[in-house]
Amino acid sequence: MTEDEARQQLVDAMRSLDARGLNRGTSGNLSVRFASGMLVTPSGVTPDRLTADLMVYVDGDGSVAAGSARPSSEWQMHMGLYRRRPDANAIVHCHARYSTILACAHREIPPLHYMVAVSGGASVPIAPYATFGSEELADGVVQTLDGRSACLMANHGLIALGPKLPVAMAIAEEIEEQAAVYCGTLAIGGPKLLNAIEMERIIAAFTQYGQRDTKG
Ligand SMILES: [Zn+2]
Repeated sequence: MTEDEARQQLVDAMRSLDARGLNRGTSGNLSVRFASGMLVTPSGVTPDRLTADLMVYVDGDGSVAAGSARPSSEWQMHMGLYRRRPDANAIVHCHARYSTILACAHREIPPLHYMVAVSGGASVPIAPYATFGSEELADGVVQTLDGRSACLMANHGLIALGPKLPVAMAIAEEIEEQAAVYCGTLAIGGPKLLNAIEMERIIAAFTQYGQRDTKG
């Protein structure tokens, strides 16, 4: 993918998050690994005003070219994740409503539906609270993910990563759906959970499916 294509892909994805109700206004941010650093959405620009040239290239050492827009305030979290997760080439962070409701209540998403396994685990855990954009937050997210593809972030929102941006976007959207379903079940007595053996079976099936998808 060329740099221009990668920049446009970020613009389209940010608008898509907004259109699907997964994010609002200037909150949330996206990035893709690129060259020796990453391309990340800019700080403080609403999706309707985003353009490809506003996407910011941040080099691996954190430097930004003169004349660039200001990178997302959460750029250090993205960079920290790319450093520690070589399997991640794209990151989606958003303040989707139901995920954020659970994150503010410090409730992880339990194995209430087999699609919870798109996270790569039997549940969607919550990273401890740390100030947005901090290295401490990146550390907490990496430790909480523990190899998974998504987690909630306490008192903050949701983060998902993947080998490419459409995959990370799809995971974020599915986790938000599971968060909404979980909130709904809590209103009618709580979910009846799937057992660990069944979740292991689903995770294995999704892993095989993902490998097939990557190959072809
Ligand atoms: Zn955020």
